[in-house]
Amino acid sequence: MNCLFCSIVSGDIPSTRVYEDERVLAFRDINPQAPVHILVIPKVHLSSLDEVTEKSSALIAHLLEVIPSIARAEGLTNGYRVVTNIGEDGCQSVKHLHFHILGGAKLGEQMA
Ligand code: AMP
Repeated sequence: MNCLFCSIVSGDIPSTRVYEDERVLAFRDINPQAPVHILVIPKVHLSSLDEVTEKSSALIAHLLEVIPSIARAEGLTNGYRVVTNIGEDGCQSVKHLHFHILGGAKLGEQMA
């Protein structure tokens, strides 16, 4: 399968990794929308949150658990935002599930 984030997981495409374990990888977004902009992904390919089922719920719970520790390591002590885009209307451009961590400044109040 030709997937950009799978290629980042395999190391075929370079990234700036900030966290990694056997199930999850986090790396800096190439086009940051905030002073801190990190993408957190499962290493296995899931196309979006829309594909999550009971079968993958333990993986997603683990992924969500690592987000606060990444935020702490990045010094986001005053809050941050976590976003996942889904499908066409959600403007998802990379079809591999990812959660954006955005912070390091006061973010805009608009969500959409
Ligand atoms: P989304 O629009 O929610 O699918 O987000 C995809 C994100 O991937 C965007 O914020 C892009 O800037 C980011 N991105 C695309 N290519 C790369 C890359 N090679 N390394 C890091 N981030 C990337």
